[in-house]
Amino acid sequence: MFNSLSDRLTATFKNLRGKGRLTEADVDGTVREIRRALLDADVAVPVVRSFVSRVKERALGLEVSQSLNPGQQVVKIVNEQLVEILGGQTRRINLAKNPPTVIMLAGLQGAGKTTLAGKLAKHLKSEGHTPLLVACDLQRPNAVKQLQINGERAGVPVYAPHPGVSSEFEEATGDPVVVAGNGVSEARQKQHDVVIVDTAGRLGVDEEMMKQAADIRAAINPHEVLFVIDSMIGQDAVNTAQAFNEGVDFTGVVLSKLDGDARGGAALSVTHVTGKPVMFASTGEGLDDFEVFHPDRMAGRILE
Ligand code: GDP
Repeated sequence: MFNSLSDRLTATFKNLRGKGRLTEADVDGTVREIRRALLDADVAVPVVRSFVSRVKERALGLEVSQSLNPGQQVVKIVNEQLVEILGGQTRRINLAKNPPTVIMLAGLQGAGKTTLAGKLAKHLKSEGHTPLLVACDLQRPNAVKQLQINGERAGVPVYAPHPGVSSEFEEATGDPVVVAGNGVSEARQKQHDVVIVDTAGRLGVDEEMMKQAADIRAAINPHEVLFVIDSMIGQDAVNTAQAFNEGVDFTGVVLSKLDGDARGGAALSVTHVTGKPVMFASTGEGLDDFEVFHPDRMAGRILE
């Protein structure tokens, strides 16, 4: 992910190397290249606009101060702006004062929620927590089973409406809102300090799905609602994120499939358009392909 954006930005900065001071034309040329690179990487237009104007403003300021090494300073400015659009500080899970901490996952079908549930459970377990997974994706055949397999691999128990669901032809039934509530009660009763609730998605945003997600949110009053988004979906990322932000008022974003080779820029726009931070990244199908998202490190990788 971001390879092409990274190459383009690096090439742009090469042109500035060795310049004693930057003329307005240098800044204009550089900013134009940055704009093109961001647009080509699928970064949303309003995000590009605000990014580029900030870089330009600051880079022109440099000329006034007649900095000794303006090329490097422009790289630093771009780096800082990238960190800013990626949310600034690393944002940790907001743990409940009175456990269990309730974490709800939301997103489109195929976004990577169920996979993420297992990864997050494993990650939290490694930090000394005692998570419980709750299977509320009762729409997709096999989703409960998939969560059970992920739970088993992560060494984390799974609360499911039908523990006996064992084949992809046996569709689980039940009301996901009730299951979610029961799952949280189970966690409280069995003294799990974190509960991760996996919910159903659809291929596209629709009212019924959003209502179900909103109903689950209202029923369990989670401390975190993580919106999982497939980084490969291109420009749709922004609209989808906005729809989920309105529908379930998520508290953080998980960028999934960052291991893919898509351009990825739309995912970079999600924080800017929703005001919600990226908290985690999913980088593969395995349970360990998971990272706490650090905006500064991601910006560094893009510019390396
Ligand atoms: P859900 O419908 O949102 O629960 O999505 P799933 O967790 O079932 O994931 C959908 C597909 O994407 C599955 O085939 C996963 O193995 C795959 N997947 C999930 N996360 C990642 C990731 O970070 N990288 C890659 N390459 N594949 C992923």
